[in-house]
Amino acid sequence: MDQKGKGLIFIVSAPSGAGKTTLVRKVMEALPGLRFSVSYTTRPPRTGEKEGIDYHFISPGLFRERVEKDQFLEWAEVMGHRYGTGRVDPEALKSEGADLILDIDTQGAKRAKEKLTDAVLIFILPPSIEALEERLIGRGLDPPERIRIRLAHAKSDMEEARWYQYVIVNDKLEEGVAELKAIIVAERQKKRATQ
Ligand code: 5GP
Repeated sequence: MDQKGKGLIFIVSAPSGAGKTTLVRKVMEALPGLRFSVSYTTRPPRTGEKEGIDYHFISPGLFRERVEKDQFLEWAEVMGHRYGTGRVDPEALKSEGADLILDIDTQGAKRAKEKLTDAVLIFILPPSIEALEERLIGRGLDPPERIRIRLAHAKSDMEEARWYQYVIVNDKLEEGVAELKAIIVAERQKKRATQ
């Protein structure tokens, strides 16, 4: 792909359990020129999560300090933990020759879009609330109480899908991967055509 198609920003949101992490990982393996923006969080790491790869895991005190120093593009409290995206410099991104994927919740996506007006908004939906519940139980990462909270949060989150530019229903993983790839490729072509 030529240089002109680079520097796009994709904001991906999904209720947890919609399969977003796997989807994004697979697309990043398949398409060159994508970088994942590693967020900061006060949530403790889950089994298998790595510092600097999945998140920068920081204390509530350090998080507050970063907020006070205005070091976040956006931040939000999601289900009792704080999550923040570091500042994004679109020009630096362009010269780096990469497109960026931001994984942020619906509150943060709204704020990020206000600042990064060209960003592309993509929402990933689970096929149904029942399927989401099954996945959350199946992945065995959360105790039942946390799953109840996640499901309640997911229901209100899914209503926000309305104002996203693209919606993917992640039923079969391979189809979801193909759809997300198609969106990214189309947006790259669109940018090139209008520049
Ligand atoms: P999890 O704890 O399952 O990794 O993420 C919970 C929620 O936090 C997800 O909806 C995820 O998109 C969101 N999230 C992750 N990083 C950020 C961020 O930097 N900013 C905001 N606003 N939300 C984030």
